[in-house]
Amino acid sequence: MDALFRDDAYARSCTATVTAVDERGIRLDRTVFYPTGGGQPGDTGVLRFGGAGIRITDTVKGEGGPDDVIHVPEEGAALPAPGTEVEAILDWERRHRHMRMHTALHLLCAVVPGSVTGGQIGADKSRLDFNVPAESLDKDAITAAVNALIAADTPIGTRWITDDEMAASPDLVRTMSVKPPTGSGRVRLLDVTGVDLQPCGGTHVARTGEIGGIEVTKIENKGKQNRRVVIALKD
Ligand SMILES: [Zn+2]
Repeated sequence: MDALFRDDAYARSCTATVTAVDERGIRLDRTVFYPTGGGQPGDTGVLRFGGAGIRITDTVKGEGGPDDVIHVPEEGAALPAPGTEVEAILDWERRHRHMRMHTALHLLCAVVPGSVTGGQIGADKSRLDFNVPAESLDKDAITAAVNALIAADTPIGTRWITDDEMAASPDLVRTMSVKPPTGSGRVRLLDVTGVDLQPCGGTHVARTGEIGGIEVTKIENKGKQNRRVVIALKD
């Protein structure tokens, strides 16, 4: 399966051929739909074929590894048979908000000290949990620091390293709860030039300026040394 979203997060649609259909959903030979993972929700959208279309309400990973992507259809939809050519079209507005949010969390990770113990991305709000001492985080200061990184409009790139190189660089991993996806022989690094470098398989914007501005809306105390920082996009 060709995971087009990995090389081009801006691809909104593609033509593809149905390779399998089962009770979990539809598999294609290529897709722009990102499957739930790394705290980022699965994409939604439409599959068009034969003059009709069905809603895709979620996208998840199967057991066949990171490139086993299952498109979950709305209940009761008439499913395409294997071999059918379809057009896969993302709900782009939602996905683009996920890209902006996801990239903003990388900046948040660069601004807040301590390791990340969890996180969740949403179109309206997102959060990261940090293992840091109490009373050490200031909402306004973090908001200002992240927005300064956004205003710098830093380019963002990806590069691949081998599993062995990854194993030799444990300091690259800020997130304790999300293990980098090793096993396929290579790991993708997300590089916010000079700001943040870590393994990540999600979708991101091309420059920090595209995030457009965030606000830290809440810092919650989730137990000993665990602070949950919640952010929202300004628009
Ligand atoms: Zn990422």
